[in-house]
Amino acid sequence: MADLENRLRAKGKWTFLALSILSLVALIILSFFLWYLISPRVNAMSPFLSLAIKILGILSLFVISGGLFLIVLSSALERDFLFPHGEKQITLKVLFPINLFLGKLFGLSKDQVRESFVQVNNSLFKATEKRIEKDRLLILLPHCLQNFDCPHKIVANYNNCQRCGGCLIGDIIEMTEKYNIDVSIATGGTLARKVMVEKRPSVIVAVACERDLCSGIQDAYPIPVYGVLNERPYGPCMNTKVNLENLDQAVQYILNGAKDAKRYNHQRV
Ligand code: SF4
Repeated sequence: MADLENRLRAKGKWTFLALSILSLVALIILSFFLWYLISPRVNAMSPFLSLAIKILGILSLFVISGGLFLIVLSSALERDFLFPHGEKQITLKVLFPINLFLGKLFGLSKDQVRESFVQVNNSLFKATEKRIEKDRLLILLPHCLQNFDCPHKIVANYNNCQRCGGCLIGDIIEMTEKYNIDVSIATGGTLARKVMVEKRPSVIVAVACERDLCSGIQDAYPIPVYGVLNERPYGPCMNTKVNLENLDQAVQYILNGAKDAKRYNHQRV
């Protein structure tokens, strides 16, 4: 069973990686086709400009291709082959929108592509785990985890939560107290960014939907984010849930390091 789960999870990660490889091929073909169309005119205008565009184009494709090669290698083996200066961000930023487009052509929803991206992100998190400073771990929660009918204002101060059991917020606060780690609740991306600026965490475990996790992971850079997907039994943004065991294990994984990695590999994000 664990083996099957692991294989399914690995396939999830490969959806985004395979789409990225296809996107890169499409980008290269499109770039050469575009250059084939405009090069006679650019050459006629200025041979120097033509050379400059050629060098810039080849360099850009080289950086993106190299970045993707290292991402695939690091994600597949969960070993650190990445440079520490953000090449992976450039590659993912360029390829992400093409991945969404190609995913649609293959009948994948945006959320399926995004979920796969979160799994790639988490595998890269594990790959670079030794570089991550764990002294300021923050758990970032979405406001929609709170019971919709709860009258207590927990975004400004989570201590206003009465821990009544009406939603999972009280349990998560207890978990953060057990591990002596910080927690914040945000109503959206703007507030989440404000929290990151104010609290300056060194690493984040974020709970959110596929869309918010994808944008949050990219916005938080260079702070590493481990993503845990929420569950939405009542539809989006209302009375959402999260698997507490998965959240607890993500926190333990970060606090205890790679020694729990093997066990955690069998858990879904
Ligand atoms: S645990 Fe109870 S008091 Fe706390 S946020 Fe949920 S419903 Fe409100």
